[in-house]
This record gives sequence, C-alpha cells and structure tokens, in this order.
Amino acid sequence: MIEFVKSFAKLGYHQAKNLLNISRGLPLTIPSLGSMTLDDDDLTLANIWLNKKSDWYNPHLVNQYQTQFAQWNGSKYAFAFMGGRVALSALINALDLKADDEVIIPGYTCVVVPNAFRYAGVNVIYNDIELETYGLDATYLESKITSKTKAILLHHLYGLVCRDYEKIIEIAQQYNLYVIEDCAHSTGAKYKGLKVGNLGDCAFYSSEQSKIFNTIMGGVAVTNNSKIADKLEKFYHNAPYPNDTHIEKLLSNVILKYYQFKHPQRWWLGDLYALRFWDKQIISTTKEEENGIRPDNYGCKMPAPIAVLGLNQLQKINHYNQQRCKMAQYWHEWCCKNGYTPPLVIPESEPVYLRYPVLVEPKKKKKLTWGIKDLGVKPGVWFVSCIHPVPTNLPDCQKANIAVERCINFPTLK
Ligand SMILES: *Cc1c(COP(=O)(O)O)cnc(C)c1O
Repeated sequence: MIEFVKSFAKLGYHQAKNLLNISRGLPLTIPSLGSMTLDDDDLTLANIWLNKKSDWYNPHLVNQYQTQFAQWNGSKYAFAFMGGRVALSALINALDLKADDEVIIPGYTCVVVPNAFRYAGVNVIYNDIELETYGLDATYLESKITSKTKAILLHHLYGLVCRDYEKIIEIAQQYNLYVIEDCAHSTGAKYKGLKVGNLGDCAFYSSEQSKIFNTIMGGVAVTNNSKIADKLEKFYHNAPYPNDTHIEKLLSNVILKYYQFKHPQRWWLGDLYALRFWDKQIISTTKEEENGIRPDNYGCKMPAPIAVLGLNQLQKINHYNQQRCKMAQYWHEWCCKNGYTPPLVIPESEPVYLRYPVLVEPKKKKKLTWGIKDLGVKPGVWFVSCIHPVPTNLPDCQKANIAVERCINFPTLK
C-alpha cells in the first residue's frame, strides 16, 4: 500500500513539474535512457502471454530463442537465463572457476559482475581501464596475473569494441587463461566482421531494460567451445524457472515501461500506468545485491513468455542499432564542436552505441540539468562508482576513478 501512495505522490509531483516546464518552455518528452526498443508489438505479446499461463513453462519457445540468438550472433551454443549476471554465473560454473581461483576484471563495472564471481568464491582482482573505450587496459595486465589466475573478463562498454580486445586475448593465450566477454552493452557490435563475444572462450549478453534489447530482465550465455557448452547445458538443466508471480510481474513491466519510457505521451501516461501497476515494479539490482548478498530468486533460467519477447526483440536489434549509430554521429559532431573528445572506434570495429560516452567536467556530472536546458536530453551517469552503484574507490585504478568523476553518456535513441 505504501508503494501505491508513493506512486500517487509521484504523479502529483511529476505533473506539477511538467506544468513548471511548460511555463519555462522546456520539452515535456525527452529521449528516455532505457526501454526505447519496446513497441506496440511487444505490448501485444505481453498482453497475450499474461493470459497464456498454461504455456509459461513450455521449453520449445526457449529452445527456439536460444537457437535463433546463437545463429544471429554467429555463435555455436546459446543458453538463456533471467539476467546477464545469471548467464555469467553459468559461465563461471562451466569454466570450473572455484574458491581461491583468481579472475581479473575491469575496475569500472556494474556490481553484479564481481558479485557473480564472489557467489562462486572466486577472488576478484581489479585492473584499470583505458579512457578511450572504457575497456580493460592491457598495459599493466600481466602484472596482475598470478599462479592462481584462471580467467580474464573484458567488456565492450557503451556498445564500443574495447581498445585492447586482441591484445588481451593474446595475453590470455600466452598464460593459458580463459577469456570471458561481458557484452551486456554491446549486442550486435562487430570486430573484423564477427559479432563481439566470439573471440574469447565465452560471452554473455543482457536484455535488461536499459540495454540494447529489452525483455525487462534476461541474459544469454554463448560459447563456440563444445566442452564449455556441455557444462553450460548441465547448469541450465538444473536451474529453476522464476515463479508465476515473478513472470506476471515481468510481463506487466513490459506494459508499464512502454508507457513510462516509450509512448509519445509518456509524460502523463507513464504516471497513470505507474498507479495501475503500483505493486508490479521490478528493480533490476536490489539493495541486497548491491551489498553483495545473493538474492533468493537468483540463478533462474528463462521461461517461455520472456523468450517470446526475446525472439521479437531480436528481429529489431539491427534496426535500432542503426538508429543508435546515426544518433552517435550527431553526438560525435557535438563533441568536435564543443571541445570534447569522442570515444575511440578501433580499426575494423562496428560499435552499436548503447549510449554515447563523453568525459566532461566533474561538476557537469554532478548536476545534470544543463543537459535538458542546452541539449534537450538527460545524460546518463553510468558509472557513479568503480563498482557501480556501490561507493568504491579502487586505488590502483586511477583511470577508472577519472571515468567515475567525469564520464556521462548521452541517449542514442529518440
Ligand atoms: C547490466 C550489466 C550487466 C548485467 O546484466 P543483467 O542482465 O542486468 O544481469 C553486466 N555487465 C555490465 C557492464 C552491465 O552494465
């Protein structure tokens, strides 16, 4: 009930703010920072599947999603879970990473990444990033490798292909280490004609609501290695499905997020739907996860309705990624005109620009109202900390700390 009162209070607050914005000549709808790939057809699917409960645990549609994702991605094997983080946990299990092993990861990431390793007892070693693509910096990587190191995790942040992609893979091969690719931001990005996630030993993708494609929550683990695939399959087989209540919430959130973040009249419809679905809100990363605690419902595989949404979203990724690239061109020109450095596009890479990252003055990251006033957009603030969003300072990740202070991102879909 408290949530209902909160939603109601929010409605009043937002609409008062809207009136104020009208009086100031500010726009009522600005590009959203998530859920921009939801359309009418996704809404229709959500409504149909809310009424098809008997089919919620039908495995055939999930198999179809996995096959189509693998094919689209140019990977041999794909397994679908209820989050990129869960897909990562599946990979950690499949690579047999255990207590006392070490993994090297970028010191500028989302807390759910180190969490997945910690849940398995694996020790996380942070390495600094570079500030051109915000990827793992290969320069000092070797100094972090010990006899306990088993794997390196690299990421392609904001949809950019990371600067040291090949270099990191070379180092890993030299030391006989696994490479896991975090492609949560970069579904569809290419390097030398190949989709990212296919150069390392395995990779994961995310369809959480703020990512490239959207099933509210969801993730896929891929590999081209049959041995890793066998282990993944075992993990997948033993993983539970989310329960009915949670599936109903996920489907309701497709409707809710569409009206909150995509509908042209979202400035008022969003609040109305927040009232209608006041008890259906889903938080991607709960407070307990931020504190490193494994939630009870962690580790689920994907049920049919979410796979159906995934199949539908998969059809649209190329279209939306093309639009993102066009908008990136606009932000590139804005950077050049205003004295900011555009992010690096490495030779032979095709980024997908989930967001367009720029390093600005720290005070511009602290107070973002200038974005709406000057540019008509609200900048995003991934990441507010080295281990986003948990307040963390990593002393030997100086460039990550600079990114935390100065990196904002612009939306790339209108
Ligand atoms: C979102 C995100 C993840 C996790 O994806 P989920 O689907 O939300 O579990 C992993 N890595 C990075 C860099 C992310 O931003």
